[in-house]
Amino acid sequence: MTKDDCIFCKIGDREIPAEFLYRDDFVFAIRDIKPEAPVHILIIPFAHIVDLSSEPTERLHALGSLFSASTTLAKQLNVTESGYRLVVNQGPDSGQWVPHLHMHLLAGRPLSAIG
Ligand code: AMP
Ligand code: ZN
Repeated sequence: MTKDDCIFCKIGDREIPAEFLYRDDFVFAIRDIKPEAPVHILIIPFAHIVDLSSEPTERLHALGSLFSASTTLAKQLNVTESGYRLVVNQGPDSGQWVPHLHMHLLAGRPLSAIG
C-alpha cells in the first residue's frame, strides 16, 4: 500500500474527517473505529512509516513522540491512575492490519495479562 491509498495518511492530511484528540508536529491521535476497550486511541505519525522494521535504526529515536503523546492523552482521558496499555503491532504474525505505523492506547477496563 502506498501513501496515496493509505487510510491513515488520508486522515492525517484531512482528506477523511476524524476528530484529532491530540496533535503535535509529528503525530496525531484519533479514536479507533472498532474499540476493544472503553478507551481505544490510535497515535499515528503524520509520516507514512510502514512499520518499525522499515524505519532506519538511526531514525527510530524520533518515534519517542508516540510515547510522549501517549502520556499527554492518558492525562487528558483521565486514565493515568487506572492504567493503560500501549501496543504496536509489527508485521503479519502480530495482526498488523494497517501498514502505517501506529500505537494503540487501550484503557478503561482491566486488560488481560500478556504472556
Ligand atoms: P493494527 O491491527 O495494529 O494494524 O490496527 C489497525 C487499527 O486501525 C484497528 O484497530 C482498526 O480498528 C483501526 N482503524 C482502521 N481504520 C480506521 C479508521 N478509518 N478510523 C479509525 N480507526 C481505524
Ligand atoms: Zn500512511
